[in-house]
Amino acid sequence: MLIVMKVDATESDIADVVAVIEELGLKAHPMPGAQRTAIGITGNQGTVDTTRFENMPGVAEAIKVSKPYKLITLDLRPEKTIVRVGDATIGGDELAIIAGPCAIESHAQAFAIAETVRRSGARFFRGGAFKPRTSPYAFQGLGEEGLKILAEVRETYGLKIVTEALDESSVDLVERYADMIQIGARSMQNFSLLRRVGRSRLPVLLKRGLSAMLDEWLLAAEYIMAEGNYQVVLCERGVRTFAQHTRNTLDLAAIPAVRRISHLPVIIDPSHGTGKNYMVTPLARAGVAVGADGLIIEVHDQPERALSDGAQALTLEQYDRLVDEVRAIREVITPAAVS
Ligand code: PEP
Ligand code: MN
Repeated sequence: MLIVMKVDATESDIADVVAVIEELGLKAHPMPGAQRTAIGITGNQGTVDTTRFENMPGVAEAIKVSKPYKLITLDLRPEKTIVRVGDATIGGDELAIIAGPCAIESHAQAFAIAETVRRSGARFFRGGAFKPRTSPYAFQGLGEEGLKILAEVRETYGLKIVTEALDESSVDLVERYADMIQIGARSMQNFSLLRRVGRSRLPVLLKRGLSAMLDEWLLAAEYIMAEGNYQVVLCERGVRTFAQHTRNTLDLAAIPAVRRISHLPVIIDPSHGTGKNYMVTPLARAGVAVGADGLIIEVHDQPERALSDGAQALTLEQYDRLVDEVRAIREVITPAAVS
């Protein structure tokens, strides 16, 4: 159920409704909006009696929610969520750019790339310290040492750090060093991990699973929000299809599809979405043109020597050009395309 408060409802009206929800053993999720506050309710197995709330002071309506999601939905929050990562944002006016190597390999590698990322004006630096690799014999990342390098990058360049947590124990470490937790495609339905990051103070970048339907992806976001963390950014990174000309098929239609249902920001990953260097820039342009709130891009100072995902890494020069091109596209698309 969803409770919509009146425009003139007071803080104490809201607190009274929250108290009744909690007395029923349920969780209340107040979402203040530009016009009014709505309160989502989770934790109920069956339906909750709406009449209990209808006559409370400040309540405009109590609505039964028939959809499987309660918190990601525009019914609860008609305005778009702007995720704040320190003084940087995702989902606001500015196109968010998250760039960096697939994996942190060394101090020198990370710094060579971060220098370019900083100069481009991007606010976020990516790089895996814990890598989900198909083979157990492939480079698995530097672990905590990689996180320490990332923390130095933040210190030196002021970039916000986005890095993946593979499991619950790595969340503890990532929280110590980073600014945003990435949940990888392979972990999209690791429900205990989703719950754990739902209890984190850090925002979460939630990648779409390799073969996830839209509902499954949105319900994964719902898991995080149900624990009380509303700072979630969705990331379309391509799904498995029969296509052989790309590593994955980047589903650009996911952007308007998400927009129709959810207030959460959504970004595009054309690196994993194509797997091929020469396709990254064209698909990044397309992602911005369909209204993505940002891009996550893999870039390397020496792609031919990369320890993971070298085939899709842009060179520093290619990355600089991409940033110029996507910013120009963002300038000309109407605000309606991204709202
Ligand atoms: C990555 O960002 O390097 C990564 C492993 O992404 P995904 O989970 O989308 O495959
Ligand atoms: Mn990668």
